[in-house]
Amino acid sequence: MVSRVIPVDPFDLVIFGATGDLARRKILPALFRRFCAGQIPEGSQIIGAARSDLNDAGFRSLVAEAVREFGGGRGCEDGTLEQFLERLSYETIDAKGTDGWKALKARLGASPVKAFYFSVGPSLFGELAERLRRFDLADDQSRVVVEKPFGHDLETARALNMTLAQHFDESQIYRIDHYLGKETVQNLMAVRFGNMLFEPLWNAQYVDHIQITVAETVDVGGRGGYYDRSGAMRDMVQNHLMQLLCLIAMEPPARFEPDSVRDEKLKVIRALDPVDYHHIVRGQYSADEEQPGYRAHVENPRSTTESFVALKCHISNWRWAGTPFYLRTGKKLHTRASEIAVVFKDAPHSIFGPDAGRHSNVLAIRLQPNEGITMQVTIKEPGPGGMRLIDVPLDMSFAEALGPDAEDAPDAYERLIMDVIRGNQTLFMRGDEVEAAWNWTDPIIEGWQRRGEVPKPYETGSDGPEDALMLMHRDGRKWRKIRR
Ligand code: NAP
Repeated sequence: MVSRVIPVDPFDLVIFGATGDLARRKILPALFRRFCAGQIPEGSQIIGAARSDLNDAGFRSLVAEAVREFGGGRGCEDGTLEQFLERLSYETIDAKGTDGWKALKARLGASPVKAFYFSVGPSLFGELAERLRRFDLADDQSRVVVEKPFGHDLETARALNMTLAQHFDESQIYRIDHYLGKETVQNLMAVRFGNMLFEPLWNAQYVDHIQITVAETVDVGGRGGYYDRSGAMRDMVQNHLMQLLCLIAMEPPARFEPDSVRDEKLKVIRALDPVDYHHIVRGQYSADEEQPGYRAHVENPRSTTESFVALKCHISNWRWAGTPFYLRTGKKLHTRASEIAVVFKDAPHSIFGPDAGRHSNVLAIRLQPNEGITMQVTIKEPGPGGMRLIDVPLDMSFAEALGPDAEDAPDAYERLIMDVIRGNQTLFMRGDEVEAAWNWTDPIIEGWQRRGEVPKPYETGSDGPEDALMLMHRDGRKWRKIRR
């Protein structure tokens, strides 16, 4: 397979918050890798902006350090970094002030493709959007990119949407959920809508249940303060897991086009039933002899914020009525892995008698690590002595199937940034989608607060609290073992 680089028009990309963690770890290294791949055409420029008093040279050395630390890729040869750095410049700007905007405008080139990446806290989105218009940097063709968290609840998300809408049309706003940029997440759509094999079985008649797991081994890291105000429900379920749920459950859109896809995703979120509180388990990782627990990490000894959530939900529509969706995510679990498993129903009648046991097909889509697809099929256990059945995996790792090109595929940020430049919003969340997701999430969180619920403790390196296992056991099901 030969990886293709689809040309884009020359562009100006301004990154507000260019000195911050996200810009240094993700955005700038991603741009460098696209440069190495030959996808940043002559005449394009990347302009960093933040309050720090840097000149172009200072910013270039910051970027060089970030690229060295967080990643080049194949094709990034000696000398490429220097060429990339020549495309970069920097303007000192306080989003709340009025200095520097005219100078920033003077830096913009003649290209009609202008994108403004708000890699700053959401409290600055309004100020930035207003100044982009006031100082005439942005026009009706310009794009703005905003990062999560997009609101803390429905009310704040609505307020953010309204603020952005005062200055930009929805078609200009790119809300990033980097999960949507992952190669395997897009493969979800390819598997579903590119294969005749699966779609006829993709419904409540044949699917027993669906499991979505996003497990992390890391703790809250340096984000303790932010995380403790959010928790796993806001930080992971409302956005990443919800997006995965939408892609796995949505109806086939007529075309792979932004609003066709996003309309179908929105219908899924709107069809979600409210979650019964008996069907949700919250957890918080505890300290052990060697490591501090969640409360020490967030420096809040009384914290009741969850670092783990497992829940069962239902989608009330013709396709999915009666099929439960089980979602779980957490920090400090025993392995880092994301997987979606579609567990099919047992065969209606076993011709092999009761000794053959119960067997079901499972289609598992691994998002990370070792992206790939596994189909669990039932075969005869080899050897004499009658008909004993066993389940074996038909395992396809994309790295093995596609060779080195799979490793070289653009990462989520590379893909999403180039989609912004191309003006393709398919993999970005629309405002009404975000609001619908909060509308479903808010009552769950309010219920916890009303009942004064305290999360169940769980051991570092475990699968989460015991109650999460019981959530499945009560239904006669079990979580799939998550393997690396
Ligand atoms: P950060 O490390 O605190 O960086 C914030 C950036 O904003 C810095 O460049 C800072 O530079 C700039 N800034 C702050 N106040 C400013 C102002 N008044 N005017 C202009 N620039 C200002 O934060 P981050 O981790 O990069 O996160 C940025 C955004 O992305 C946040 O909304 C965050 O929630 C989101 N996000 C981050 C990650 C991640 O992995 N880090 C992941 C997903 C989403 P100066 O101090 O020089 O002004």
